[in-house]
Amino acid sequence: MSHKFLKSEVIEAAKKGVGYELYKALFLNYGKRGEKAFHYIYQRRVKKYLDFFVVVGREEYIVEEFFCTCPDFQINLKSRSPCAHIIAVEVAKLLKCYDEIDTYYMDFQKI
Ligand SMILES: [Zn+2]
Repeated sequence: MSHKFLKSEVIEAAKKGVGYELYKALFLNYGKRGEKAFHYIYQRRVKKYLDFFVVVGREEYIVEEFFCTCPDFQINLKSRSPCAHIIAVEVAKLLKCYDEIDTYYMDFQKI
């Protein structure tokens, strides 16, 4: 099984669920960003709206494929490697471990 962004070690560990193996693989492969990603999944901070995935951190960040609205991705990483939110969404998709919200995030923002 190949994956666009995730390292194979992380994919293997994810098969065992949200536990120490996954935490370790994320930390070893992505450092502090991997550790943050694990916590986002563990704390169910990944939300799937009808239009976007959103990760609830200090603020809410929209993640779409290899893109995130956070400053870490856009400024520090210069859009070249995945931030904690992109990693969290990709792993959450593998695990189907996210909350599904039956509305459009863009509509929700206008309220
Ligand atoms: Zn991000």
